[in-house]
Amino acid sequence: MSWGLYVHVPFCLGKCAYCDFVSYPFVQAEAGRYLWALRREMELCPATGELPLTAPDTVFIGGGTPTIMPGKCLADLIRDLAARFRWPESAEVTIEANPGTIDRLKLAGLRTAGVNRLSIGMQAAYPQTLATLGRRHTYADVIESVQAARDTGFTNLNLDLIFGVPGQTLDEWRATIALACSLEPEHIAAYSLEIPEGTRLFQLVERSELEPCPEETELEMYQLLRQNLARHGYRQYEISNFARPGHKCWHNLRYWHNGNYLGLGPAAHSHFNGHRWSNHSEIERYVTALDAGEFPLAEDEQLDRRTQMAETMFMGLRLKWGVNLLAFRERFGVNASELYSGEIDRLLRLGLIEIADDHLRLTEVGLPVANIVFAEFL
Ligand code: SF4
Repeated sequence: MSWGLYVHVPFCLGKCAYCDFVSYPFVQAEAGRYLWALRREMELCPATGELPLTAPDTVFIGGGTPTIMPGKCLADLIRDLAARFRWPESAEVTIEANPGTIDRLKLAGLRTAGVNRLSIGMQAAYPQTLATLGRRHTYADVIESVQAARDTGFTNLNLDLIFGVPGQTLDEWRATIALACSLEPEHIAAYSLEIPEGTRLFQLVERSELEPCPEETELEMYQLLRQNLARHGYRQYEISNFARPGHKCWHNLRYWHNGNYLGLGPAAHSHFNGHRWSNHSEIERYVTALDAGEFPLAEDEQLDRRTQMAETMFMGLRLKWGVNLLAFRERFGVNASELYSGEIDRLLRLGLIEIADDHLRLTEVGLPVANIVFAEFL
């Protein structure tokens, strides 16, 4: 069985203005307790009874900002994970990094420990936009990080970008895309800004101190992104993800295929064949449970078949090639086109989806309004 391993490192330099991820300001002593607990969780995980005997073929160390950790701690952790889960050399091993938290020494240590893909949180290039987002780096830091990654042998780089930021103009976004492309990453992921309740940006918008980006501008930015990245040789393979040939992110493809993965660390989620569970997100509860020799379980559910099928549909529709209808029938023993005939007919009539080569996919019209399509299958 093919599966992926995700490890959550919940520390950052500080909180970005739009962030509602599980992340805490980095404090050495806290990080030490977290690392101890994570190793304990590694030992305990066969107790879930779900872990297959095979090794994972993708590994993703995300956060937070994993690279906020001292280089040696991080490299030791990756070696311990590799010893525990025995992934092959061919596995895709990604780590997320933020500019300003990596240098040649740290990156060389990560390469030696087996990391072969680096995902850098560039987000924006212009100082005002970076300030609005509450990011702590500059575009110059991004250039330096990419250079350091290349110098230490990374040949698979992703840059994350955000558009639809209050105050960001179309011209600025066009220039940001060009600046990102000039760094020649193999992969670019670009998301429109969400402003979750409880974040600093949300409060500023609530107090009318910031004007959210108009929806039409956001749509124009999305189309600009797709056209410009295509011109630079990036192929879109998911709503927000673009890759040069041979550089799709295999770990993330697993999520969109509604596949199997094990998550370790606070707030990490796991899924094996319809069994889904998650860990405590508060670091204190996570550490305390493991200290008591217990699995840090927050939620545990067995998804019914109907839910598994619906999730396979709307996750698969995120992909440019869409849902493979033959694979769906093989997995669930039913034809998606019969099961969802009403929904599919309606969406076909609206021109939001199409069926071709045994795949059900979003059309050019459906792509920018994908959420409307997904809602049909929920
Ligand atoms: S770097 Fe990412 S996880 Fe950390 S605070 Fe910023 S948005 Fe949140």
